[in-house]
Amino acid sequence: MKKVIKGLLTVTTIITLGACSSDTSQKASSNSSTKETTEVSSGASVQAYTNPSEMKDSYDIVIVGAGGAGMAAAIEASDAGLNPVIFEKMPVAGGNTLKSSSGMNASETKFQEEEGITDSNDAFYEETLKGANGTNDKELLRYFVDHSADAIHWLDQNGIKLDNLTITGGMSEKRTHRPSDGSAIGGYLVDGLLRNVHERNIPIFVNTEVKDIKKTDGIVNQVTVQVQGEEPKDITGKAIVVTTGGYGASEELINSYRPDLKGYVTTNQIGSTGDGIKMIENLGGQTVDMDKIQIHPTVQQDEGVLIGEVVRGEGAILVNQAGERFVNEMNTRDKVSAAITALPEKSAYLIFDQGVRDRATAIEFYDEKGYVTAGESIEELAEKIQLPSETLAKTVTTWNEEVANKEDTAFGRTTAMDNDLSKPKYYAIKIAPGIHYTMGGIKINTNTEVLDKEEQPITGLYAAGEVAGGLHGENRIGGNSVAEIIIFGRQAGQQAAQFAFDRIETLRSE
Ligand code: ADP
Repeated sequence: MKKVIKGLLTVTTIITLGACSSDTSQKASSNSSTKETTEVSSGASVQAYTNPSEMKDSYDIVIVGAGGAGMAAAIEASDAGLNPVIFEKMPVAGGNTLKSSSGMNASETKFQEEEGITDSNDAFYEETLKGANGTNDKELLRYFVDHSADAIHWLDQNGIKLDNLTITGGMSEKRTHRPSDGSAIGGYLVDGLLRNVHERNIPIFVNTEVKDIKKTDGIVNQVTVQVQGEEPKDITGKAIVVTTGGYGASEELINSYRPDLKGYVTTNQIGSTGDGIKMIENLGGQTVDMDKIQIHPTVQQDEGVLIGEVVRGEGAILVNQAGERFVNEMNTRDKVSAAITALPEKSAYLIFDQGVRDRATAIEFYDEKGYVTAGESIEELAEKIQLPSETLAKTVTTWNEEVANKEDTAFGRTTAMDNDLSKPKYYAIKIAPGIHYTMGGIKINTNTEVLDKEEQPITGLYAAGEVAGGLHGENRIGGNSVAEIIIFGRQAGQQAAQFAFDRIETLRSE
């Protein structure tokens, strides 16, 4: 335990750095401090994770993948009194969760109440359904909204406070919960979950790839793992929880399900290759919505870095090469992406002022990366990014009038209009759509049991998070994936624990 605690201090540093090196964006950190943390992390990551020599042949619950869903499942399984293990193929925990930026959607939370926001689970349900044209798995969606507030409060009880509220496209209320300082959620969340994993002494092995999942007598109870550079070996569990994330970094799967997306940049971490989906398909599991791949409208193209929805959520507009708005920026991701792709230049600029920058601290990271162009005036900014300055100035003036009147006559935007764009300096970030999220995946029920092609649960096998499909239907709402990984990750941990207890009872009585 002592070793883990010692590692813990450095884990915070590693993860904070991890978030900064991803698309997300903790608060600004100076170059010198970034360098320091790099040096600290390079020697510390080994300490943060369990030594491969400590790996046992058997655990109560085997969890595959150390993103948000996997860690939430592990914490619940441990709190239920069982002995879980997490295997992660990358050198660090976090997966795509580390890269998430907007926040975590939830309705009827105490933090909304504190801010005087009246929200309802029904409204959250209806708006999510509308955002996906009614294509969501309605049972999963109902479970999701009804357990969202509890998930926020559970995180809070575990020292992960998400009390700063914002709004994402397609939502009518501020229900996107972020860390208190308004920074991107990914690094903060992964850091907090990992801290809880360590506090419970849950073994977590990195550089350890799960290559196969097997069953005996109809019950899924074993995985084949390979620690980098070593021979594969079999580890048994009374239940197996698959939380391997999506397939947004698998050219093979993207090309096979969506050949039209060939050549798009991806915002995904390289470990998001759909391994869990393939392994579960081999066990007879059913997939849903595999061709539903979310394109995020605002991705910096050179490095595939996502520019978080928070920038628009705090007031930015999008303009085309002519310096004009062309879309309701707060529409759902599919619609905003389609509008950008329909432009002859197939790219656009996010335009915002110092006020937006002050409210969305993620922007500091984008600036450090060199993505942000600044001007003392709109005209100066326009010249720097080579847009017609008169048109851009007129676009911003008109927009500010519309904000004052609370009416976007051109495109019908109704949200994220609390503040106009009138505080110098002015800024621009060039963006275009990129592959962001795979909505399809393994079919599960609300108990997170994996379903076979006859809709029957595959005994002993659970899946949660981006590896699972159905919840988001054909279009995911920003802020719903983090909610999904916590809500269904917790459920997978609890359900797998219940199953394991029942197994133990059965084995004892046999
Ligand atoms: P979620 O948001 O659903 O939690 P993430 O992408 O955050 O998904 O995390 C999934 C994690 O699973 C990633 O860290 C990824 O590297 C890991 N992973 C993917 N495939 C495997 C595998 N075959 N064995 C072990 N870990 C895996």
